[in-house]
Amino acid sequence: MRGFFIGRFQPYHLGHHYVIQHILEKVDELIIGIGSAQESHTLENPFTAGERIVMISRALDEIGTKKKVYIIPLEDIYRNSLWVAHVCSMVPKFDVVYTNNPLVSRLFREANFRVEHTKMYNRVEYQGTEIRRKMIEGEDWEIFVPKSVAEVIKEIDGVTRLREIAGKDV
Ligand code: ATP
Ligand code: MG
Repeated sequence: MRGFFIGRFQPYHLGHHYVIQHILEKVDELIIGIGSAQESHTLENPFTAGERIVMISRALDEIGTKKKVYIIPLEDIYRNSLWVAHVCSMVPKFDVVYTNNPLVSRLFREANFRVEHTKMYNRVEYQGTEIRRKMIEGEDWEIFVPKSVAEVIKEIDGVTRLREIAGKDV
């Protein structure tokens, strides 16, 4: 059984990490779609698809899963009615979609996919928007992402990038 999970992962945080570990207990293989793959260097999407791939890949190394995981960048097509077909044209076949996003759920259900809802883990702190805000404001953010992800963000000097984009020089 192959599952599909999609996010923007800006950045990949512990909420994603826990939900993916939970999904990996249920499936034989997992496809992780990286949404808005064409975006980078913006307040909402600071990291490139390639940087997000490295974050996810190193976080998965941390778990040490033996299951096959495909990490696939997916560009926006700005056309919801065709979006499921777009996804399917880019990824291996899958049997079940794991999501909490109402639109993603709706679109896949209309296309007759099996959709399973996922649990939310500490959504107050494990939230991309909040973690990006902390990076900009100079608050602690490392504790909300896997250790390996914090390292990747440091390697690419991600916080400085985000602050420059936000127009806040420190
Ligand atoms: P942003 O605030 O930038 O939208 P986000 O935390 O919502 O970031 P996304 O990449 O948009 O992260 O999320 C992808 C998917 O991950 C979503 O469908 C969401 O349901 C799930 N997700 C996000 N945070 C959590 C969490 N804390 N626990 C479980 N699932 C989560
Ligand atoms: Mg979100």
